[in-house]
Amino acid sequence: MPMTTSISKYSVGIGDRFGLEGAAQLRAFLAARDRGVTITPVWNKSNREHSLIGTRPEDVRAEADAAVKACQWTGPYFVDADHIGLATVDKFLAASDFFTIDVADSIGKSAADSSIAKYTADMQRFSGALRIPGIAEPVTVSPAALNQIASKYLFAVEEAGRVYRHIAEKKGEGTFVTEVSFDEANSPQTPAELFFILAALAREQIPVATVAPKFTGEFLKGIDYVGDIKQFTREFEEDLAVLAFAKQTFGLPASLKLSIHSGSDKFSLYPIVHRAIEEADAGIHLKTAGTTWLEEVIGLAAAGGEGLAFVKALYRDACGRYDEMAKPYLTVIAIDRKALPTPDQVDSFSAQEYVETLEHNQACKRFNIHFRQMVHISFKLAAEKRSQYLALLGSNRSSIESHVSENILKRHIEPLFLGTAG
Ligand SMILES: [Zn+2]
Repeated sequence: MPMTTSISKYSVGIGDRFGLEGAAQLRAFLAARDRGVTITPVWNKSNREHSLIGTRPEDVRAEADAAVKACQWTGPYFVDADHIGLATVDKFLAASDFFTIDVADSIGKSAADSSIAKYTADMQRFSGALRIPGIAEPVTVSPAALNQIASKYLFAVEEAGRVYRHIAEKKGEGTFVTEVSFDEANSPQTPAELFFILAALAREQIPVATVAPKFTGEFLKGIDYVGDIKQFTREFEEDLAVLAFAKQTFGLPASLKLSIHSGSDKFSLYPIVHRAIEEADAGIHLKTAGTTWLEEVIGLAAAGGEGLAFVKALYRDACGRYDEMAKPYLTVIAIDRKALPTPDQVDSFSAQEYVETLEHNQACKRFNIHFRQMVHISFKLAAEKRSQYLALLGSNRSSIESHVSENILKRHIEPLFLGTAG
């Protein structure tokens, strides 16, 4: 196995559309450290986000470095080239030291017959009843099942190998963290599939630090988990067991951990994940989406005046350009347009009403998950009025920063890592 840069047991990926909240985000990690839990911050931005908003990977690097300096953060931190592949990785090479290799599009493409034959022959040793410590029932492994897994996933893992080697060749082995993601696949991976995917990653000599499977249920942007919580719990615990067993069996990095691409705000899962990783003594990488942007909108709405007028106009624009806003996110949103307030209704909102409709507080009657998703995907409209938007952010800086820090600390870090109610 090639050398790897390891990442600490706990890490959180934070997005920041406009790149201004790095220090405010990092203050949440400082607060966590003061309370005894060290979490590595990872600034992530995907190619999709960069192209929608007109930023470059160098901007994220500059933001992260500046935040670290401003907060005197002395621990490790990373800049994640999120969801890259061979076609998109090059522009991230210089600025990033964490690469999320996304091979979901390659799932189901067939590897060469000879590699499938070699792989399945190699995996024959697990045929029969495979016992994985921590999983009650043995997994039945038949030649047909192995063949099916190989046909579905082997090409994708080989593609991950090609991307990994491309990065390693340019940056040097052991200088970056490697994540492999399957979360944008059409269907969740079973624990058995995850086991054989990990086997294939090891055979491909990828020193994978985190792996992001697709979990059961919907991980929509900016709203809570939609799905069967009991089934998620069982699968998540089994995935942890699979990871521990696969590390020993295949010689994968000891620090290998699961990555949850949460899409943010999976509040109902945090207590479950907290308990499971504590019981298994396992690490976790939580990748959140760019909901820091929503905290900026909330800060402007709360300020009233021009700030509130700006975010009201933004919503009106968003409704008028719904299809365009929704298009890049169709698989990760569920907006019922009939449940959205009309732009006229929103225009009549007070500052407090706007904030309460948007802020993710499930106990609040006014909270509207459709409105929240709609605003979440409409950041491009603020980018179109960038100078006005940035000026407004500037004049409301301190209140926005406290929204940003509080959100990460209270709603995400506390319930997930400290086990306290969010
Ligand atoms: Zn993802």
